[in-house]
Amino acid sequence: MRVLKFGGTSVANHQCVLSVADIAENELSLGQVALVLSAPAKITNHLVAMIEKTVAGQDIVSNMSDATQIFADLLSGLKAQQPRFDYERLKGLVERELASLKQTLHGISLLKQCPDSINASLICRGEKLSIAIMESVLQARGHKVTVIDPVKNLLAHGHCLESTVDIHESSKRIAALNIPADHIILMAGFTAGDENGELVVLGRNGSDYSAAVLAACLRADCCEIWTDVDGVYTCDPRAVKDARLLKSLSYQEAMELSYFGAKVLHPRTIAPIAQFQIPCLIKNTANPNVPGTFIGDALIDDGQKDQDMPIKGITNLDHMAMFNVSGPGMKGMVGMAARIFSVMSRKGISVVLITQSSSEYSISFCVPQKEWVKAHNALTEEFYLELKDGVLDPIDAIDNLAIISVVGDGMRTQPGTSARFFSALTRANINIVAIAQGSSERSISAVIENNAATTAVRLCHQMLFNTAQVVEVFVVGVGE
Ligand code: ADP
Ligand code: ASP
Ligand code: MG
Repeated sequence: MRVLKFGGTSVANHQCVLSVADIAENELSLGQVALVLSAPAKITNHLVAMIEKTVAGQDIVSNMSDATQIFADLLSGLKAQQPRFDYERLKGLVERELASLKQTLHGISLLKQCPDSINASLICRGEKLSIAIMESVLQARGHKVTVIDPVKNLLAHGHCLESTVDIHESSKRIAALNIPADHIILMAGFTAGDENGELVVLGRNGSDYSAAVLAACLRADCCEIWTDVDGVYTCDPRAVKDARLLKSLSYQEAMELSYFGAKVLHPRTIAPIAQFQIPCLIKNTANPNVPGTFIGDALIDDGQKDQDMPIKGITNLDHMAMFNVSGPGMKGMVGMAARIFSVMSRKGISVVLITQSSSEYSISFCVPQKEWVKAHNALTEEFYLELKDGVLDPIDAIDNLAIISVVGDGMRTQPGTSARFFSALTRANINIVAIAQGSSERSISAVIENNAATTAVRLCHQMLFNTAQVVEVFVVGVGE
C-alpha cells in the first residue's frame, strides 16, 4: 500500500488533475494506492478571505467569482479531455456547494461573527470537491474507487481548527471498512472528525499531515508527498536560486526543517510516519521522473544519502515576537519556567523557541507575532503580584523578528558549524538578538530582525554551502 498526497498546485487545473490520475495509475503496478488530495490552489485562501471579509462587513464578490471560475475551468477542461467524465453531475455538485457556502456566509454576515466550528466546516470545502472530481475521473477510466470519509474515520482531538488525529482509534475504524484490494482509495486532506462526529480541520497546510496519518493507519509501505518542487532543498528554492536538491533526510532532520519553516512539509507530518517507520518521498507532480527526496532512517548505500553534508538546510520563520521574563527574584525561584509555559499553553499560544540565561536570571522565548497581545496579557496577568512587588522586571517584548535556523544530523560531529553560521550573519552586518541550539545538536537558531531574514538566508546559504557568490564590480573614474 502506498499513500500519495497531492497539494493544491498539483490539482490546480484539469491538466494537473489528469497528471495525478496518470501518476496514481502508474503506481498501481507497485500495489494498492490511496490518494489524499488538497483543495485546488487558491481555493482555501479564497474561502478564508470570504469568511474574514464577511465578518468585517466587506464585499466578497471577487473572491466568490474567482473560486467559481477555478471550478468551472477545471470541470470544462475535464469534460473536453477525459472521456466519460460525468460533467453534469459534478457541475451540479459544485453549484450546490457554492450555494450552500453563500447561504452560510449570509448567516455569518447577520451574526457579524463566525464560530470556529462553522469556520472549519467552510474552509475544507475545496478538499471535498477535489475528491468528488478525482473519483469521477478515476471511474471514467474504469477504476473501482472507495472514498474514506475523514470526518467519520479519522478521530481527532484538540481545537477544531488545529486538531490532532488519534491514530490508534482511526486505524481501527479504517480497518473496519474492509476496503477491497483492487480499489483505489481516496480521502480528502485537511479534515477529520471529533468525538461527537463533528467536522474539524488539521491546521493550514494540514493535508501533508492527513497523508501521514492515513499512511500510519494503513501501515503503508510508503507515504509520497507530491508537490510543485523536485523535493526538499537546502533552502526554499523560490527564495534562493542555487538551493540544492537533497537526496535524503532522516526523520529528525525533516522534522526540524519543517518545524523551523520549510513549508514543503507541514511540521506534524513526520511524527506519524516515523512512529511506524514508514519511508516518505517528496516528489514533483510536474516532473515525476525526478527521484525526489527520501525521508527515513533506512540505510541506503547506493549513494542516496548525502553523508558528506553535515548541514542539510537553512530555514526561516518570519513574523515572530520575543518575550523576556527577567528580574532579581528569578534566581532560584522554583517553577518559573513551568508557570510561563503553562500559561502559554492554556491560552493556546505556541512557543517556537526558548533560551534561558545560565544565571537563571532570565527566560526568553518566541511566539508568532500575531499572538503578541494575547501573550503579553497572559504574562502580565499570571505574574501580576511578582511584577507589582518588583520581584520581576517589567516584561520585555520585541516584535518584528525572524528565526533563522540551520539543520543537519552531521552538525553533532562536525565542530565549527555554528561559528560559520554566526560569522555569515556577522559578515552581513545582521544583529543577533538571541541564539538557541536544539539539545539534539541537530539545529541551531538565531533570532534576528524580520526584515533581515531574506538576506540572512541567502548569505548563510552561500557561506555554508559554498554556492556561487555574486561579485559586483564598479569602475569609477574621470576622463574618456
Ligand atoms: P503543496 O500545495 O503541494 O502542499 P506547498 O506550497 O505547501 O505545496 O509547499 C511547497 C513549497 O514549499 C515550494 O513551492 C517551496 O517554495 C516551499 N519550500 C520552502 N522551503 C522549502 C525547501 N527547503 N525545499 C523545498 N521547498 C520548500
Ligand atoms: N487546503 C488547505 C490549505 O491550503 C490544506 C492543504 O492544502 O494542505 O491550508
Ligand atoms: Mg503544503
